[in-house]
Amino acid sequence: MGCYVLCEKDIILDKDGNLPEFSDLQKIKDTNAFAEYFEEKQFDLKVLGLRTKDNLPQDFNAVPLRLYFNTHTEDENFHAFRAQSLFNWRQSEQYCSCCGAKLEEHKTLTARVCPECRREFFPKIAPCVIVLVNKDNKILLARHTYRNQDIYACIAGFIEAGESAEHAVERELFEETGLKVKNITYRGSQSWPFPNQLMLGFTADYESGELKLQKEEIADAKWFDPDNCPASPKPGSIAYRLIHKLY
Ligand SMILES: [Zn+2]
Repeated sequence: MGCYVLCEKDIILDKDGNLPEFSDLQKIKDTNAFAEYFEEKQFDLKVLGLRTKDNLPQDFNAVPLRLYFNTHTEDENFHAFRAQSLFNWRQSEQYCSCCGAKLEEHKTLTARVCPECRREFFPKIAPCVIVLVNKDNKILLARHTYRNQDIYACIAGFIEAGESAEHAVERELFEETGLKVKNITYRGSQSWPFPNQLMLGFTADYESGELKLQKEEIADAKWFDPDNCPASPKPGSIAYRLIHKLY
């Protein structure tokens, strides 16, 4: 529950790090272009999606959601994840993909419905895998080519049509690092609303192969001592939980 003001990958908080009050929303709307405002009754979310954040009222700041996740409870994160996911979905799914009609709000569900062909459209979720590979007492971490280049993280990727999550783990690892793994074990999941991933976390043990990096995706990958890791994902992420065995 609460008021979520979002812009790109940031959340707007007051100077004490609190969510805005309902009465603050109008002030923020008055000075910034916004995409839409919506309410979701199920979790009592009030969401204002901004197009700009250049003229926030005094005492409000834009904070990267990634940092918000690091320092808030699971419940607070769930509401923020949901607000961001729903905003992304509402922006991207406005027309029926079958007949092209403008969608309407579903009367009772968090969904949209086509007034012409009556198809229902629910918030989209894209399942992904993220995996930490162990070899003897070392873990495999990789620096990606095009995202978060400043940290070493786990190998991750989207599950493709027809695949199981375990199959996706094997395929992604082989494609990106040339390694084969065994003992693939599920360790937990996390919503990651950039824009709509559900990250399924796994660990696996090295089986065979030499590191051979897919250069378009992976800038560097190495075996690290878990007690002496380079800069890596922060608390609040599933990657942190995998790396620090918090499962
Ligand atoms: Zn339709």
